[in-house]
Amino acid sequence: MKETYLGVEVSPLTYEGIVNEIENRMTRHEQSTIIAVNPEKVIVANRDPQVKTLINESTFQIPDGVGVLLASKLKGGKITSRVTGVDMMGRLLDFAALKGHSVYFYGAKEEVVTKAIAEIQKERPLLLIAGYTNGYEKDEAALVQRINDSGAKILFVALGSPKQELWIKRNLMNLPNVLVFQGVGGSFDVFSG
Ligand code: UDP
Repeated sequence: MKETYLGVEVSPLTYEGIVNEIENRMTRHEQSTIIAVNPEKVIVANRDPQVKTLINESTFQIPDGVGVLLASKLKGGKITSRVTGVDMMGRLLDFAALKGHSVYFYGAKEEVVTKAIAEIQKERPLLLIAGYTNGYEKDEAALVQRINDSGAKILFVALGSPKQELWIKRNLMNLPNVLVFQGVGGSFDVFSG
C-alpha cells in the first residue's frame, strides 16, 4: 500500500523490496519506472497537477530525502528508511550484474557518463553495458532507435527533474524491451567520483 503526502504517492518499500518486485515484473515482461520523491518535489507537485500525475503514474516512488521519512513517522506510516536515487541505482546495477540484464546509461556530460561507467564496471566486472549516450543528444528518435538496438533491459536517465521523467514518459512505449527505467538526476556525477 502506497502512502500519500499532499496527494503524492510514495512506495513504502526497501531497496530489497523494490528489486524483488522489479524482478517479478520483469518475468512478466512488465515495464517499471522509478522516480525519487523528496519534500521539494511534493511541494511542486502540490502546485502543478502535471508533476503530480507524473509522479503518481510511476511504478515506484522512492522516499529519497529525510523529509518524507519524517512525515511517514509522524503519521505512523510504514516508511522506515530512506531509499535514495543513487543507492537505488547501485542496487539495480548489482542486480543487473548478477542476473545478466544489460544496462544503458543516458545523460550527463560525455566525460561524466564515460567516467561513471568505468567506475561502475570496475566494481562490477560482470555487468553487461548495452551502451551510453550523453545528455546533450538532440536527435531523440535516433537515440530511441539506438537504445532499442542495444538490447538494454535497464535504462538510467540522468537529465535532472522533471526533464528525465518527461523523457521517460514520452518514450516508454517506444522502448518495449526496456523493462526498467530510473530517473537518476545527478547520480552519474556521483558515480564518476
Ligand atoms: N543534464 C543533461 N542534459 C540536460 C540537462 C542536464 O544531461 O539537458 C545532466 C547534467 O549534466 C547533470 C544532470 O543532468 O549530470 C542533472 O543533475 P542534477 O543534480 O541537476 O539533477 P537533480 O538530481 O537535481 O534533478
